[in-house]
Amino acid sequence: MNRIALLASASLLCAGAVYGADMMPTDQAGVEKAFDASVHPDEMGGWLKRLAAEPNQVGSPHDKANAEWVLAQFKSWGWDAHIETFEVPYPTPIHESLELMGGKKPFKATLQEKPIPGDSSATAKDYALPGYFAYQGDGDVTAPLVYVNYGMPDDYDALQKMGVSVKGKIVIVRYGAGWRGLKPKLAQEHGAVGCIVYSDPHDDGYAVDATYPNGPARPPQGIQRGSVQDMTLYPGDPLTPGVGATKDAKRLSISEAKTILKIPALPISYGDAQVFLQALNGQVVPQSWRGSLPITYRVGPSAAMVHLSVKSDWSMKTLYDVVAVMKGSAYPDQWILRGNHRDGWVFGATDPLSGQIALLEEGKAIGRLAATGWRPKRTLVYLSWDGEEPGLLGSTEWAETHGDELKKKAVLYINSDSNSRGTFAAEGSQDLEHLVNGVIDDVTDPETGGTVGERYRARLRAAAVDPSERDKEHAKAIAKAAADPGQDAPIEALGSGSDYSAYVQHLGLAALNVGYGGEGDSGGVYHSRYDTFEHHSRFVDPGFVYDALLAKTVGRIVLRAAQADLPVQRAGDFARSVALYLAEVKKLATEKRDAQMVQAGLLRDRVFALVADPTKSNGAPPVLETVPAFDFAPLEAAVEKLKASAKAYDDALAKNGAGLSPDRLAHLQALMLDLDQTLLYDAGLPGRPWFKNVIYAPGTLTGYGAKTLPGIREGIEQQRWADAAAYIKITADALNAYSGRLDQAAAVLSGG
Ligand SMILES: [Zn+2]
Repeated sequence: MNRIALLASASLLCAGAVYGADMMPTDQAGVEKAFDASVHPDEMGGWLKRLAAEPNQVGSPHDKANAEWVLAQFKSWGWDAHIETFEVPYPTPIHESLELMGGKKPFKATLQEKPIPGDSSATAKDYALPGYFAYQGDGDVTAPLVYVNYGMPDDYDALQKMGVSVKGKIVIVRYGAGWRGLKPKLAQEHGAVGCIVYSDPHDDGYAVDATYPNGPARPPQGIQRGSVQDMTLYPGDPLTPGVGATKDAKRLSISEAKTILKIPALPISYGDAQVFLQALNGQVVPQSWRGSLPITYRVGPSAAMVHLSVKSDWSMKTLYDVVAVMKGSAYPDQWILRGNHRDGWVFGATDPLSGQIALLEEGKAIGRLAATGWRPKRTLVYLSWDGEEPGLLGSTEWAETHGDELKKKAVLYINSDSNSRGTFAAEGSQDLEHLVNGVIDDVTDPETGGTVGERYRARLRAAAVDPSERDKEHAKAIAKAAADPGQDAPIEALGSGSDYSAYVQHLGLAALNVGYGGEGDSGGVYHSRYDTFEHHSRFVDPGFVYDALLAKTVGRIVLRAAQADLPVQRAGDFARSVALYLAEVKKLATEKRDAQMVQAGLLRDRVFALVADPTKSNGAPPVLETVPAFDFAPLEAAVEKLKASAKAYDDALAKNGAGLSPDRLAHLQALMLDLDQTLLYDAGLPGRPWFKNVIYAPGTLTGYGAKTLPGIREGIEQQRWADAAAYIKITADALNAYSGRLDQAAAVLSGG
């Protein structure tokens, strides 16, 4: 530590000597050119090798060593940096076993990922964790086995029609179609006593590509670890919802924590899963339930019993968030936040260290700029998060600890995570679309030679004609906007699955999640022991070209948000997206109503059949609860108002933005800084008060996938009619508050 610090200060002196004050760029183009000159893929590759050299899960020696190394780097680049710690229960397995009973001796699942020669997995220190799920419920159960396909709600409906119950059974589920954590949760809700999740080769194994080390896909022994914490209720430390997990925080007990599963669950490889699936009797599964193993897939139950046992160490572990600050020269109380997590399930080369090395390169490049005497106008806060994998722990606890200050000072939060070769992708608050578009239209794609923006628009247009696209109408609407060069290319809404969640959904900050992907294949080693430096540099981003491109892209977003005197939001882009979301929920309500009317006779027959003696019902059919005709008028009016206010604001900004007096500029900045916080509803979404943003949320039945206008949309989808009706009004109020703020800002711009 001391030696590193010493070397660090030496390199700062060196940097100062090389980049003297005469090198200081004077305009934004010069700043970005100097930034790019500091981005070196080889250097980033060297960092990746170092950071991914040993396992990096929460509580591991190397995760802590990496935090200290990252801290020393930022200090050496001239940042004011420190480590902030939190205390969380982080379960790690003490004992786990899975056996198929019967026969002469039981088959014991290996639950192991054997080392691959020539790969980091062969040289790892022995503190790599076995395959397991964080926040499953410890237990020891013996029961017959049932196969439930992806384990999503539709699959349970189909299973019921087949006359098979999972009550008292252990279920085996394959990965895919929905977030991992929903699988054991839905199994538990349907009465299962245990849950096994396996990676079918159909989805990321030999059916997709050659398996590692011959190709990128999942080898037979590869296991996808992960969290099964119910983060649709709230992410972060399960014991401290809404407050930071500091040493003296008031805590729930583990049994009180609603986000921890009650039944035991384990992830397994397809090598192990095949033996269990072969033991299933009963009906052959429907076509869409078949995977790619060389067996006949049956639903079960099995005649043989399965024994599943998991026991964990639930002791508290320390999280190490690295926080690096560069104070702004003009607007020190306006902060630009930039984060990426550092912890991995094992080595975590792609997830998350490919994004971490971009964050580091940005930190270095900005430090080099600062060494010339340049200063950002706004304060930059760079964040290397710990504990993302078990449940967005480090980012959520930091957000909850500093929530009040962040709501006053943070302009936006920019996140990245795993990165790979391919096209640009961004999700986030749509009032930041213009900022993002400006950047991607100025960055060159190394494969096409054109701009990243051109390729991004092409991807959005191509999605509309992609037969695998799930929501075709939505994709068409996005493609139409992307095809119009006069408009900003749209960005999609944020759900969950990385560290932005607390910032956008709990604090109401404007936020972005950005990265490259689609070509480099990391899915086959995702959350396994084989997500290594060797795999990343061979298959995911050879030459670290797109990792470097991520640094240049995010660096520009940061630097433009930091240097622009005028607010970076464009309200028209947000209004366009909200209008689309309103059309979608109105259509959803109509479709639901139509479907129920068409089915009414059938539904009545079913209710009749349940009545023991139909003659006693006086012949009158029982009245069905029908989908009400919702009154969308308040929301329709709010969206019309939003469109008008947004246009007036954007026009006033374009016309009068330049040359505002310092007083007016300060007033405008103050009005726009917390604009997105007008979208918060203090009581939160139905049944989940932590989620306060009424425009963007992760779906309760999608997990990672976003639900827009979630109070209304999920109310309709889940037949909670009163909730849907109430949130039409609540959402309209929030949008009216947003529009009201725009009107005030427009008045300032127009001299009012
Ligand atoms: Zn990640």
